Amino acid sequence: MNDIVLREAQPGDELWGVVAFESIQSTRPVDEIGGYLQLGGFSGLGLWVGGFDEHSAPVRALVQYRHTIRSLRAPVWLMYAGYFGVLASFDGVAKVSHGVFYTESKRLVGPVGSGPPADRYYIARLHRFYEPVRALSIIRAIPEFACECPDCQPLDELMEAASMIRPGSPMRAEWVARLQRHFLQCRSAEVEAIESMSPADAYRDLVRSAEIVGILPLSIQRSLGLHDRHLLHWAEAIRHPLLTPRSIQWACREHEWVMSGQGRVAAVRDVDPAECPSD
Ligand SMILES: [Zn+2]
Repeated sequence: MNDIVLREAQPGDELWGVVAFESIQSTRPVDEIGGYLQLGGFSGLGLWVGGFDEHSAPVRALVQYRHTIRSLRAPVWLMYAGYFGVLASFDGVAKVSHGVFYTESKRLVGPVGSGPPADRYYIARLHRFYEPVRALSIIRAIPEFACECPDCQPLDELMEAASMIRPGSPMRAEWVARLQRHFLQCRSAEVEAIESMSPADAYRDLVRSAEIVGILPLSIQRSLGLHDRHLLHWAEAIRHPLLTPRSIQWACREHEWVMSGQGRVAAVRDVDPAECPSD
């Protein structure tokens, strides 16, 4: 199929292929299959890892995701992603699909159809959406996470509307539009900021926000849904050395990865350091 598409391309056509994996567990370095699929003939490659939720993924899955992105060896377009996808620009991501109420994660095979999109509010310092009433509670607990964009001012009025505006109310459409415009401004600012950041800058930024959350008592963090540590997982994942042969020994010492001699993930389990191949 790829062969036919590439043969029929006209000079000047920009063709992008799409590589899809059923799950993060089924990903493998694409350079192993790229020749067979003629992926090198495309201008860039879309990547869709079914059901991959960057907010709940453990560090080792986030690192495996980065490794898969790098193995494409082409400009990468993430078909579903959030801020971690923006961070993956350090690994070759050139485009991220996003939009108002566009999902950040989707299974390859799932139920047909869906209901109306849920209302949600994006907290930029946490780089993720929350249900609006919860978002208000978070911002009341951590005022420095408040947004000062025109659509969020006055913030109390915007957030209080979350519990007052009923479905079908004529004010509701404008309120929803404000949430949407706010998110688009946040995402635009994130993309612009990352362009001038190093991975170390991005790491420090994530850790700083996590430290601010960490000042709250754990019971409050739990009640606000802030105890999942996604910022620290992302921070750890972006500073993780990628899985090249030279990093095999390091990875084994972490007891997370079992590697084949070519640096490919062969399995994930706890290992005895004595099993690790020498570098
Ligand atoms: Zn805003």
